[in-house]
Parts: sequence; structure tokens; C-alpha cells
Amino acid sequence: MATLAPTAPDTDAVAGAPAVRLAGVRRVYGDVVAVAGIDLDIGAGEFFTMLGPSGSGKTTTLRVIAGFERPDAGHVELQGVDVTRVAPSQRAVNTVFQDYALFPHMTVAENVEYGLRIKGIGRRDRRARAEAMLDRVRLPGLGDRKPAQLSGGQRQRVALARAIVNGPPVLLLDEPLGALDLKLRQEMQIFLKALQRDLGITFVYVTHDQEEALTMSDRLAVFNEGRIEQVGTPAEVYEHPQTEFVAGFVGVSNVVERDGRRFTIRPEKIRMTDEGVGDAEPGTVREVVYVGMITRYVVDLDAGGQLVVVRQNLETSSQEALAEQGKRVRLSWRPEHTYEIGKEGK
Ligand code: ADP
Ligand code: MG
Repeated sequence: MATLAPTAPDTDAVAGAPAVRLAGVRRVYGDVVAVAGIDLDIGAGEFFTMLGPSGSGKTTTLRVIAGFERPDAGHVELQGVDVTRVAPSQRAVNTVFQDYALFPHMTVAENVEYGLRIKGIGRRDRRARAEAMLDRVRLPGLGDRKPAQLSGGQRQRVALARAIVNGPPVLLLDEPLGALDLKLRQEMQIFLKALQRDLGITFVYVTHDQEEALTMSDRLAVFNEGRIEQVGTPAEVYEHPQTEFVAGFVGVSNVVERDGRRFTIRPEKIRMTDEGVGDAEPGTVREVVYVGMITRYVVDLDAGGQLVVVRQNLETSSQEALAEQGKRVRLSWRPEHTYEIGKEGK
């Protein structure tokens, strides 16, 4: 397999600088504040995910990094170099879009070679590198087909090959798996993660799917209304959501209020026992949802409020689980599994 020699070495790159740095980036469309002042450092070689609901500013942020959008305020650095005013084609980043954006009239190989042709690389060299890339994305021998003759998953991998063929230090991916069905998406998640590790380049990955973000990322940023609510590893964000928004968006979480302070607690960290065991909080099971591997319970607490509890169906059948509706139970959890939110006005 060919190695990825960058065709445009960035001679100004500052050793040790973050691959991407956003400082005070803001982008406004008329009355809409798409990105409301973002500061973010993404390390070289990271699989970094921007996670958030639709309209939270992820795509705009990605387009600012790529150079398709100029920020109204703030600046963008790539490897320590300020590129805020540099044209997209002159930036050492490539983008993979959700809709693939392949050229329909070109063959697969011509699509993959495109970036190399623009850079004036000779035909034979181009062909060899395109073939190596098609191997790498597991599409060997399909170079002569037209995009229309491929499945959605195959087209996505052509788009990927096209984006990595010239060895960009940073690859931007905007919901690249959004159009694929669940099984293919899960396969591609594993494949993309392995590819990124293999290539050692920085991935900046946009998704609204929290499970995808938790599965794939080294670190992630949770976006909400044009702002970043939290940055951290999947474990940090999942186990210690810093805001109520993050707690609710990244997995199911419970918010418990005690003595005027608010805490989050994950459903799987709550122990549910029969009434009479210990001095845990008493309640009544209001709802039981059997979901195959797990059962989800909604429990009304006697002291007010409700908690979602999840149990693995180790030896429980669906009938046994469903029979627990209306049952009196007690809930307990370890203090280290709660996390206080709203301390800093969050
Ligand atoms: P996301 O990718 O998280 O769904 P976007 O960055 O696409 O979010 O959009 C953020 C906000 O900016 C949304 O309210 C969207 O409608 C608005 N927006 C994005 N692009 C444009 C545009 N070209 N013109 C006007 N409004 C836009
Ligand atoms: Mg988007």
C-alpha cells in the first residue's frame, strides 16, 4: 500500500502546535447567530468530534475551518499558522460531505485522482495512488465504474479515498454516515476509526448521533445553540456532564435535586431493590420498557420527581421485567456516580 506523502507540505507549520485552533470564532447570518464565539484546540492525530443537535452550528464551524465561510470575528489556525484569510484550496485540509459530492460523469478512479490532477501530478503516478487509495478503502478493482454503479456505502468510501489521496494533515467529515442504514453505519464507524488510526491524521468529525460520537472519538465537543457546552473524552462527557443540556443530549440522564443543588445520575448507575432493603429512596415503578439487552424503568419517587433506571437483562425474561410495573422499589446509588451541575450558572 502506498504511503501518504503530502503533496503540499506546509512549510510554515509550527511544531507542536494544535492541528486546528479556533479563537473567538463567530459567524452570523442576518439575525441568526450560527456560531457564537468558539474557542477550541484540536491536537494533531486526534479523532475529534463535534456533537450537537441540528442547527447547533457544527457545519458552520467545520466550514469556517475549511475556509468556505469567513468568520465575522475570531481567527482560525492550522498547525500554528493563521489561515483566517487563506482560500480553502490553499488550506491543508480536505472535507468529506454527507452527500459525497462525487463527479457523476467521471469514473471512480478519476474522482479519486481529481485532487492530484489539480496539483499537476502526472497520469501514471496519479493512477497508482488512486488505486492504492481504493485498496485502502476496500474498493479494489472498482476504479472504472461510474459513481451511479455503486452502492451508497461504496460511494461514501470513494469520497473518502478522494479526500485522503493527497495526504491532508486534517480531514473534515460532515455527517459522513448520515445517509447509510444502521448496520452499514456501524461497520463504517469501525472502519473510519481504524483508518484514522492507521493514517495518523487528524479527523474533525461532525455528527448529531451521540452513540457515534462516544464510539469513535478521542475527544468530543458538545454544541448547543452555536456554543460549546463541554469538551472532553467520551468517558468524561458521559460520566461527568457539566451542564443539564449535555446530560440530556449525551445519553439518558437523570437530574436529581437535593437541598437546592442539582446532580446528574446515569440510569445504569442506579441500583433498584425490593422495598424493605436498605435505606434507599422509595418509589413506584410507573413504566417498564423491555429493549432486548436491557430493560428501562421509570420510577416515581415518593419524595417527588422521577428517575429512569436501566437494568441488563442478564437472567430476566421480558415477561418478568414487564410484571414489575406498579411494583414498590427502593433506589440507591453511590455518591461518586452523581455529578453536580449548575454550579457556574450552567
Ligand atoms: P448544524 O450543522 O449543527 O445543524 P449549522 O451550522 O448548519 O448547524 O447551522 C447553524 C444555524 O445557522 C442554523 O440556525 C442554520 O439555520 C443557520 N445557517 C446555517 N447556514 C446558513 C446560511 N447559509 N444562511 C442562513 N442561515 C444559515
Ligand atoms: Mg450540519
